[in-house]
Formats: sequence, C-alpha cells, structure tokens
Amino acid sequence: MLKGKTALVTGSTSGIGLGIAKALATQGANIVLNGFGDVEGPKAEIAALGVKVAYHGADMSKPAEIEDMMKFAAAEFGQVDILVNNAGIQHVARIENFPVEKWDAILAINLSSAFHATRLALPAMQATGWGRIINVASVHGLVGSPEKSAYVAAKHGIVGLTKVTALENATSGVTCNAICPGWVLTPLVQKQIDAKAAAGGISNQQASEHLLREKEPSLQFTTPEELGALAVFFCSPAGNNVRGVAWNMDGGWAAQ
Ligand code: NAD
Repeated sequence: MLKGKTALVTGSTSGIGLGIAKALATQGANIVLNGFGDVEGPKAEIAALGVKVAYHGADMSKPAEIEDMMKFAAAEFGQVDILVNNAGIQHVARIENFPVEKWDAILAINLSSAFHATRLALPAMQATGWGRIINVASVHGLVGSPEKSAYVAAKHGIVGLTKVTALENATSGVTCNAICPGWVLTPLVQKQIDAKAAAGGISNQQASEHLLREKEPSLQFTTPEELGALAVFFCSPAGNNVRGVAWNMDGGWAAQ
C-alpha cells in the first residue's frame, strides 16, 4: 500500500518508533530511522522487510540537527511523505523538585522537535498533495498524572499542534493525527517499573502489575505492533478524512 513512499520516524531505534517503522516498512515504505543506541540491529530488521532504509542520528532537542536530518532524508529518498514524530523521554518528580534542565529537555524533545520536523516536512507534502503526519502523543496528552508535569504539558501541547497542523491542511491530501498510547512495555516504561520495584521492595512482575492496575482497566500493555497497525490505518485511503484526532489506544485509561 505504501510502496514508493518514504517514512521518517523519529526515535525509531527502540520501542514504539521501531514498531511503527516496521509496520510502515511491511506496507512497502522506505524508512529513515533516527534515535540513539544500537542502529545496526534496527536497520537490519527494516532491510529484511525488503525496503530501503537510511539512518540519521539527529538529536531531536537541536533544531539545526533536525534541519540536517530533513535535508538528508530528501537527498536520500526524494522527499518525506510520512512523518512520525515519536522521539520522547520521561522524567518523574514533583514540580517543586523537577530539575529545570529536565523540563527544558522534555519540552524540546517531546514537543518542539515535532514543530520543527513538521514545518520542514510540510512544503514537499503540500507540493505533491499527499502527506501523513503522525504525532505519537500519549494518554498523558488527554489526562494528567502527578509527578509528570513536563511530560503531560508536552503531550497536551503535541495534541494541540496536531489539531492546528490538521486544520491548516484540511482541504489538501495532507493529514495530521495523534496516537495516544497508555502503558507500552518499552525501555521508557521499564525504567518506571524498575523504580517502583526498588521503592516498594517488590518484584519486577509485581511492580508491573501495580502499574497496570493503577491506570489501565484492561490490565494489558498496548504493543508497538498494535500502534504500528494504527499508524498504517492513518496512512491508508480509509484514513483520508481522519483529521486532527487524538486516538487513544490505552486499555480504557482515559474512559474512566
Ligand atoms: P523508548 O525509550 O523505547 O524509545 C525512545 C526513542 O527516542 C529511542 O529510539 C531513543 O533513542 C529516542 N530518543 C530519545 N531522545 C532522543 C533525542 N534527543 N533525539 C533523538 N532520539 C531520541 O520509548 P518509547 O516508549 O518507545 O517512546 C516512544 C514515544 O512514545 C515517546 O514519545 C513516548 O512519550 C511515547 N509514549 C510511550 C508510552 C509507553 O508506555 N512506553 C506511552 C505513551 C506514549
């Protein structure tokens, strides 16, 4: 379905981003990966799906590096047709103890990076009359939780950015939507489970059950594969008139 298209997925060396990149590659899209850590493993996983894959290591907190990544993607594959703004980090602390540099980093990586990548991707999408921008927000783009001020502010912000991007392009073939996952068992959440286990003197398994029971009525983690399937839907012809939604896949978290 996406043969000949190019998808750039930020923060795709791990977790949800890698899951979405694989789902889009399975539909035939060439992929530009981004993120830190192991690169060769994810590159090989994508290449095995029979599409072209490239990597750019832009630090998404740095606008100049984002500009360089967007130029690189255009030079490699002609243009970016599908942009998935996914890179994100977390830090957990009460507001009065929240490190200022963590606030700045979370706002830069989880929110401002999406603005920069979007502003740079839009002109080519508008010129060809087709494009998909998918912002990986969070259920924390819809509701709050204590000790996550920067994350919740950034994720509510990206839901707002999604709506404006969708509206400014509403009469064109360029759509923008947000995905709002609940708990997904990735390194970002594993760190929170480890901290919970250490603080409560409980096993990792017990900490993970507590985490789900607190917030997620299904008592199940959402998977990167399920999120990838939602991204594919947004890119499909059936997604043509889905514009500006914040679609939660959260086991009922936000329904409470
Ligand atoms: P993860 O830690 O597995 O992956 C994060 C990715 O972002 C990695 O590839 C990492 O290298 C990259 N990254 C981090 N800082 C970066 C930077 N400065 N520049 C470039 N890349 C950077 O986490 P994940 O759980 O897969 O999270 C992906 C997205 O999903 C995030 O935006 C996160 O907020 C969101 N999300 C996660 C969950 C969850 O439960 N895991 C729930 C809702 C939303």
